[in-house]
Amino acid sequence: FFIAVEGGDGSGKTTQIQLLDEHLRARGIGPVVLTREPGGTDAGRAIREVVLGGSGVAPRSEALLFAADRAHHVASLIGPALERGETVITDRYIDSSLGYQSAGRELSTEDIAGLSRWATEGLVPHLTLVLDIDPETAAQRTAARGEENHLDREDLAFRRRVQEAFLVLASREPSRYAVIDANREPAAVAADIAAVVDAHMSS
Ligand code: C5P
Ligand code: MG
Repeated sequence: FFIAVEGGDGSGKTTQIQLLDEHLRARGIGPVVLTREPGGTDAGRAIREVVLGGSGVAPRSEALLFAADRAHHVASLIGPALERGETVITDRYIDSSLGYQSAGRELSTEDIAGLSRWATEGLVPHLTLVLDIDPETAAQRTAARGEENHLDREDLAFRRRVQEAFLVLASREPSRYAVIDANREPAAVAADIAAVVDAHMSS
């Protein structure tokens, strides 16, 4: 079973993935593979350093680097784990490219979607969780944890475009997506996620 967790910076993805992992293990579901983009593999970590390390790449280059990370991630880690029957949870996937590189950087949605389709050979999650958070709350959270501003990513208009893109994607495929209100305390968010994942995994 393949789960992607999407949401803006500061939406709580990392915390929620850890809590979901604990929930699945408590239910006796395993093995569970936790991974992330960019940087879920050795090659991906090198790509992450290029794209986020401060050297500043042009938007189209950025889009190709995220796609390169994803292609290797699927081929070497996600695909084989799914073949073995394992549960995979990824912190970001295709929708992050549609959110950041397309809605955020204003590159063509068709181009970015096509690039991801090619990179992943069409591998789509069984369930995508969108953590829906007020962009201002999310900006306060990332500021509080002292996260570096990556280009204009702290910009509220940019955050709003990214967030809106996630919600539009979710609204187009309601059976494969769940939108979770992430403005609440972590335990309440985790309880909703656990219920949604349990329902999807048993259907
Ligand atoms: O999720 P994580 O904090 O590891 O993401 C690192 C940075 O990369 C974040 O600033 C995120 O906004 C950005 N990112 C991006 N495009 C993607 C995935 C992540 O701009 N496709
Ligand atoms: Mg993060």
